[in-house]
Amino acid sequence: MNCQRCLRGEAVYRAHTDAMDIKICPVCAEEAQRLKIAIEVLENSERVGDGAPRSSQLLNSFIE
Ligand SMILES: [Zn+2]
Repeated sequence: MNCQRCLRGEAVYRAHTDAMDIKICPVCAEEAQRLKIAIEVLENSERVGDGAPRSSQLLNSFIE
């Protein structure tokens, strides 16, 4: 699964706040930490088929 923020890296972390819940790559996870966004490691992708990036509004708030 690709990172839901940059759409390039492999998503191995999950970033979640009250307003969003996305899977992200290590590079974006680093940025998220800087932004005080809680992240956790994705041990394995248990929800197969959940790859639709339909949280663009939430992604925008993350990128800012
Ligand atoms: Zn990324």
